[in-house]
Amino acid sequence: MSDPQRREFLAVTAAIASLAALSGSQPAVAGDPSFMNNVPDPDLSGKELPTFKFALEKSTGKVIGNSFGKEATVAQLPISKGIAGVSMRLEPGAMRELHWHATAAEWAFVIEGRVRTTVIDPQGLAETNDFDPGDVWYFPRGHGHMLQCLGDKPCHFILIFDNGYFSEFGTFSITDWIGHASAPLLAKNFGLPESAFASFPKEEVYFARGALPPAEPSVPLQGWRLPPETHRYRMLAQPPHATYPGGREWRVDSSRFPISKTITGVVLDLDPGALRTLHWHPNADEWQYVLAGNVSVTLFGSHGRFRTEQLEQGDVGCIPQGYGHSIENTGDKPARILIGFNAGIYETIDLTQWIAGNPPDVLATNFGQALALMQKLPRQDVFIADESGRG
Ligand code: MN
Ligand code: MN
Repeated sequence: MSDPQRREFLAVTAAIASLAALSGSQPAVAGDPSFMNNVPDPDLSGKELPTFKFALEKSTGKVIGNSFGKEATVAQLPISKGIAGVSMRLEPGAMRELHWHATAAEWAFVIEGRVRTTVIDPQGLAETNDFDPGDVWYFPRGHGHMLQCLGDKPCHFILIFDNGYFSEFGTFSITDWIGHASAPLLAKNFGLPESAFASFPKEEVYFARGALPPAEPSVPLQGWRLPPETHRYRMLAQPPHATYPGGREWRVDSSRFPISKTITGVVLDLDPGALRTLHWHPNADEWQYVLAGNVSVTLFGSHGRFRTEQLEQGDVGCIPQGYGHSIENTGDKPARILIGFNAGIYETIDLTQWIAGNPPDVLATNFGQALALMQKLPRQDVFIADESGRG
């Protein structure tokens, strides 16, 4: 680096540092500090890469009435250790009852219909929010919450958890707990006669069913005591955060949605033939759910291991942290993919960007090719390439 280059570099670095100080942002941190990249995952240590696809919407899951929850945990998709996902549909009047997740935060994206949630935090502050299609919620690990279908039409949403094992360790439901506590314990706990609890459910209800909720949320027993950070982010109500010749992307991490400290969400649109170019994520696993279209996803795992999966609407894909991958729209219709990462800060290194950051003589030596050819490679990041390779 020459002196003028270094001066320019240092000026840019100082500007970034002062911006970070202004916004109070922290350095990027991987989603789960207990995740040790240097402990080999047996599922990823073989001669071949295992499947990274699961047909979520073709599975049955848990069905009660016209409501369902279908899940993709390590049981369904063994390499998905860092992220689990659920497709949930609620019929009008149905509620996913009050519960918490002892070992996972919950992030959600509403596909259709309307949803109402109430969530409590350890300060006793509670927020009730209404959600439309394209809206997102985030509930920190362990915070109690409920999900309710709003209005007279069913709702459908995708849940993403920052722990692929979350289901095995269970969700903690309020009826399951109260149903198994003794009558004297409940009477003392709530200051009511034992008889008050005589007809409470004895087993977990999971999906409760009752009257349609009121159009406006009613006041909680303690009155409104709102938390400082909202749990709702209206992602698709905004213009895309970036557009390219072959597609567009909405992205929400903790820089836009401060409470979402451990999960980043993306909606990626790819026009027919377009490619989300070869890249990897240094700090997170990636979980994909195809909202529309047909895509081809490739995975590179070192030692010549390369695998391709074809995903259609309702299918899930999972890319382990640090593994190379790409997504291509192989259909003749627009494709839309919902993507979740188990980190609150988005990070990517794109192959085009990496190459553009290297001197051409280095590339010529690395590939054993003429310098003239290296000079033709992209000189900047190509995030999405269109069907003709234009970025
Ligand atoms: Mn939940
Ligand atoms: Mn990716």
